[in-house]
Amino acid sequence: MIETFDAVVVGAGHNGLTAALYLADEGWDVCVLERNDEPGGSVRSDELTREGYIHDTHSTNQNLFVGSQVFEEFGDELREAGLAFSRSDKPFANVYPDDESLRVYQDVDRTREAFEAHSPADAAGWNTLREEFGRFAETLVPLMGQPLPSVAAGRTLLDAVQIERPSGLIDLAQIPLSSTRELGDAYFETPEAKALMACWGLHIDFGPDVSGGAMFPFLESFTALSEGISVATGGASAIPEALTTLIETRGGEVRTNAEVTAVDTQDGRATGVTLTDGTTIRAREAVVANLTPTVLYDRLVDDAALPESFRETVDRYEYGPGTMMIHLALDELPDWTAGEDLSEFAYVHIAPDVDTLAETYTAAQNGQLPESPMLIVGQTTAVDASRTPDDGQILWIQVRALPSEIDGDAAGEIDATDWDTAASPMADRVLDKLETYAPGVRDSIRDRDVHSPADLEATNPNLVGGDSVAGSHHLRQNFLWRPFPGWSRYGTPVDELYVCGASTWPGAGNNATSGQLCAQRVLAQPFEERVIETVEEYVGDAATAVQQRLS
Ligand SMILES: Cc1cc2nc3c(=O)[nH]c(=O)nc-3n(C[C@H](O)[C@H](O)[C@H](O)COP(=O)(O)OP(=O)(O)OC[C@H]3O[C@@H](n4cnc5c(N)ncnc54)[C@H](O)[C@@H]3O)c2cc1C
Repeated sequence: MIETFDAVVVGAGHNGLTAALYLADEGWDVCVLERNDEPGGSVRSDELTREGYIHDTHSTNQNLFVGSQVFEEFGDELREAGLAFSRSDKPFANVYPDDESLRVYQDVDRTREAFEAHSPADAAGWNTLREEFGRFAETLVPLMGQPLPSVAAGRTLLDAVQIERPSGLIDLAQIPLSSTRELGDAYFETPEAKALMACWGLHIDFGPDVSGGAMFPFLESFTALSEGISVATGGASAIPEALTTLIETRGGEVRTNAEVTAVDTQDGRATGVTLTDGTTIRAREAVVANLTPTVLYDRLVDDAALPESFRETVDRYEYGPGTMMIHLALDELPDWTAGEDLSEFAYVHIAPDVDTLAETYTAAQNGQLPESPMLIVGQTTAVDASRTPDDGQILWIQVRALPSEIDGDAAGEIDATDWDTAASPMADRVLDKLETYAPGVRDSIRDRDVHSPADLEATNPNLVGGDSVAGSHHLRQNFLWRPFPGWSRYGTPVDELYVCGASTWPGAGNNATSGQLCAQRVLAQPFEERVIETVEEYVGDAATAVQQRLS
């Protein structure tokens, strides 16, 4: 007998799980199918180096989840299911050559003093930006949790106009539309402060000279200032595990080792899915795919079910450069030359200046292994000491930005052009760099586990080419254009097939927003659904025209 559910969700990333939770909460019978042996996707933890050493395999900073709507609505129940967060009030710092550093504490005065000691002009710039962030938070930040386009988003914009007047809003919008270099040049004096902001842009795929790159650094820096940085206590897997408990409490199921090979369609409508072993599972109301467009449409949906023009749109979807993860088990946390309390910070960024960040980004875009990649050094055990069973420490190093496919090495040292061979020497380059800022760290390493961009994609097909954010967030592919113009509200050309996840608005990060908004779209009444489709059609035409001009 063929199993049938109200909704089948493909992929147990935190967005797929969130969508399933909202549907199950409305009484829907849901089944989440996950190809891996654990749910979570890029929100997972595991013993990667030694027994009892719990590393966050991919994402570690859970600020977005803590601030999400799903945590606001289901927080008590998620806590009862075991979810807790450990917060650092020393969120992030940057180290530079010659023992220079800049620190951002959760304490506003202490941060101002740290900037003041470095440069009074930088301190003034930081304060001005912080005030601008206050205006931004009051007016435009709510858009990040709303569907685009939507009546709610329209209201937010109207309210913003009332508060700021059109001129104020136009003035304010200049910040997020800037590149990170422009942002740094407008507000800061020293190369160090400029690099502090530009580093956050490279967390996504914003090299210093890409317009729109300033938005993430602007939001992330001042959110970290006010909230600190939180990691999931005991490991990132606590998030998918708690979400799974809530789904199961409502009668839903989360099945692992269940890879979907096809979304089944009939007469233009999704009817269910087929698994690797040939099993069919039917969906009465909806199939929700927590997948990036190329995985969904190139591998799972029959071409015959898609209009030819849509196929061409899918082919134009772009991915950003790759990421490498280096997980270390250490005797002790790094002894930074720039000062002792640096080992207490959640993140330490290593990037000397904006020009080097630009060279790194350009090298990655051109298939070259960068000479000096940017390092995001997550000092996991400084935030959550429960991650090791003894006095050992854990470091989480994200290496940005790397080519997905290697054509050469900007430093002329690594000959390999495949990631299997290049991963180890590249990791050595990274650790040598870390050693110059924290001498002795290499001797302190008990074990290491390196994941190249190719490894990341192998563990999660959404990370195409090792792109940690499942698709470029440049202006032409963000907001109304994510993933495609006219398809920013989680629908697809196949009836009853919906899509959520990092490749949909509001994009990557553990915000759980697309899962929530997608479920709300699935639950929309027929009249609402028709309104959404009509608006999408009109806005889609306009958005396509704008995208063509932007390209
Ligand atoms: C290395 C790295 C570091 C990051 N750091 C941070 C951070 O610190 N903070 C932050 O907020 N964000 C971070 N991010 C981004 C963030 O983790 C992701 O944007 C987010 O987790 C994406 O969630 P998702 O729900 O869209 O889906 P995903 O996490 O991509 O999950 C999708 C799931 O679908 C499954 N799947 C795929 N194909 C199939 C199939 N055919 N059948 C069944 N299952 C399938 C996958 O196995 C996966 O489990 C990081 C990402 C990476 C890769």
